[in-house]
Amino acid sequence: ETILITGGAGFIGSHMVDRLVNEGFKVRVIDNLSSGRLENLKHLGTSIEAMIGDLKKPEDALKAVDGVDAVFHFAANPEVRVSTTNPETHFNENVVATFNLLEAMRRRGVKELVFASSSSVYGEPSEIPVGEDAPIRPVSVYGASKAACENLIHAYTRLYGIRAVVLRYANVVGPRLRHGVVWDFMNKLRTNPRELEVLGNGTQVRSYIYIDDAVEATILAWRKASDAFNVFNVASEDWITVDEVAKIVIETMGLKDVKIIHKPVAHGVGWLGDVKKIALKIERLKALGFKPKLNSAQAVKETVLGMM
Ligand code: NAD
Repeated sequence: ETILITGGAGFIGSHMVDRLVNEGFKVRVIDNLSSGRLENLKHLGTSIEAMIGDLKKPEDALKAVDGVDAVFHFAANPEVRVSTTNPETHFNENVVATFNLLEAMRRRGVKELVFASSSSVYGEPSEIPVGEDAPIRPVSVYGASKAACENLIHAYTRLYGIRAVVLRYANVVGPRLRHGVVWDFMNKLRTNPRELEVLGNGTQVRSYIYIDDAVEATILAWRKASDAFNVFNVASEDWITVDEVAKIVIETMGLKDVKIIHKPVAHGVGWLGDVKKIALKIERLKALGFKPKLNSAQAVKETVLGMM
């Protein structure tokens, strides 16, 4: 069986590649290397075929899906902050690319899709943790682009017999991460170990999940979900504030007396479209037998240790 992993040279995608190769699958990767890196692909040339290509081009999408049995779609621009200044980037990288991929799957008769969505589709839920049936009310163009992808996928499952598993990930962290708060804090502290600028007032709440747990959840959902269209939250069971993340990063890096400087925009958030509080209910995944090994604080700590 051959599986296509879009964005397979990126953070989550490359860990999915490792796992599927270990399970004996042949893997093809399509990546435009906008943020991904070929050195993330350990088994390149043996069990992995890599195609440098861009899903914004329909012809690249068609070439990529040719002859595969299933598609794991992880290519996207994952930077929520970019979407505030550059909404068009998110529309193109996420919605147009996903549409091209779905069209390619329809035309080539590929019937199975796993999609990396995001907790940002919920926007600012009225209470946390939020379950999969909560309303979809994104407050960033990134979140809106993921919601648009989910809806396109839903229609394709109804119209063209594609089976889809949609994963709404919380903040995924671990080795090879190159964006987001943990990466940002580590970089800033490497440049200046005496001071740390925190975007927002530091009280923003998030759930963090370690990459190994996220990969395990993804595989489990793919194997066990039985409907034509399936949605799962993927997160650990607790949540921590951005200030707590800062503290863990500082301590794990062995630093002391770091001055924290908060930079809030409106309502204490770090940028327009930043969400104040988000955490996810994971009962649906747990019903399939999932249990995260690390909680949010442990996931952040393990990530820092792995990147030092
Ligand atoms: P990443 O940037 O490391 O991976 C994305 C990959 O897609 C990169 O390798 C990039 O080069 C590639 N890519 C981007 N646009 C492309 C295009 N048009 N054609 C081909 N390849 C393209 O980010 P990640 O953190 O690994 O995210 C993977 C997926 O998971 C994304 O869809 C992201 O939105 C989603 N997600 C991530 C998180 C997280 O916390 N990391 C949370 C929720 C959802």
